[in-house]
Amino acid sequence: MNYTFFTVGPSQLFPTVSKHMKNAIKDNIPSISHRGEQFKNIYKETQDSLRKLMDIPKNWHIFFISSGLEAMERIIQNSVAKSSLHFINGAFSKKFCDFSKKLKKHPYKIETDENKQFDYNSVKIPKDVELICITQNETSTGTIFPMDEIYKIKDKNPDKLIAIDIVSSAPYVKINWLKIDAAFFSVQKGFGLPAGLCVLLVNEKIIDKSKELDYKGYNIGTFHSFISLLDKETNYQNPETPNILFIYLLGQVCRDFLKIGIEKIRKDTEKKAELIYDFFKKHKIYEPYVKNADIRSMTTITIDVRGRSKEIIRRLAEKGIIAGSGYGTNKDRHIRIANFPAHRLTDVKKLLKYLR
Ligand SMILES: *Cc1c(COP(=O)(O)O)cnc(C)c1O
Repeated sequence: MNYTFFTVGPSQLFPTVSKHMKNAIKDNIPSISHRGEQFKNIYKETQDSLRKLMDIPKNWHIFFISSGLEAMERIIQNSVAKSSLHFINGAFSKKFCDFSKKLKKHPYKIETDENKQFDYNSVKIPKDVELICITQNETSTGTIFPMDEIYKIKDKNPDKLIAIDIVSSAPYVKINWLKIDAAFFSVQKGFGLPAGLCVLLVNEKIIDKSKELDYKGYNIGTFHSFISLLDKETNYQNPETPNILFIYLLGQVCRDFLKIGIEKIRKDTEKKAELIYDFFKKHKIYEPYVKNADIRSMTTITIDVRGRSKEIIRRLAEKGIIAGSGYGTNKDRHIRIANFPAHRLTDVKKLLKYLR
């Protein structure tokens, strides 16, 4: 059967991926040397397309690593001597914090209920915090941290570094790169690719911090320390043999996104999200889990289905639609619906038709 995946990651492949995969095999991309000119061109082209698509400044570095979780670990290792601070409202933000602790740092926590917003105005950042970690789109609950609130935190704390997890909101989320210092996303969500590649974006300030930590004798890691990544990036390479095929595929999909236009992708995302939220706002039994519309995710939508998730997922599967269950302890209580560029309006309409 031909399935459409509305799961939040891995998810539906972007429709052009299979064509690009065939071309990659035809052109021997999986066999080329990771030190040769052909690979360097691929690396550079993917960087260039990403920069255009997400409006990333020239002086930002674009590193390729293996996963979103790896990005969390690398960022903490390379920018924190002692203290990080974490806004926690779900499983992924909690993981970021746990990693800081496991790396023997001292994480501060600011917590809120899963589907509520933080009390932004009363937030106090302790003096010794070096890095503030924010999960911009908390996939476990479908809640966003509004970018404007992140910018206000930066304005009030210009001396602190800010890292944002945009794993499940890129490339939809619009970013003012002057107001953050690091961001990361893996490609199996909004980019509609197979899992196994993550893009880590960092500015000069956080690179300098990493060099300072290294100089002072802190452990900043080995082959994926920012110093090592930077050293190779200068020559359009990775320290290790990277996932050459996926770096190529990411570049191709970025080009496809550029052809469609990022503003159209954003508008379409909002239109599809509105359809889904409207449907559930009017539903007699089910309702959006996040009540406050200001912090509802446009890209990963969580619906409280009163414990009926298993049955709904089973019945949708019979129709060729794969929906996501709730996260962790909410497995049976919620369904989660991804709304990425790979999901067409007609797919969303079909999903809602069967849910009716
Ligand atoms: C999926 C996800 C991650 C983890 O990414 P991996 O590539 O699986 O390591 C981290 N943060 C958020 C918000 C996610 O949705």
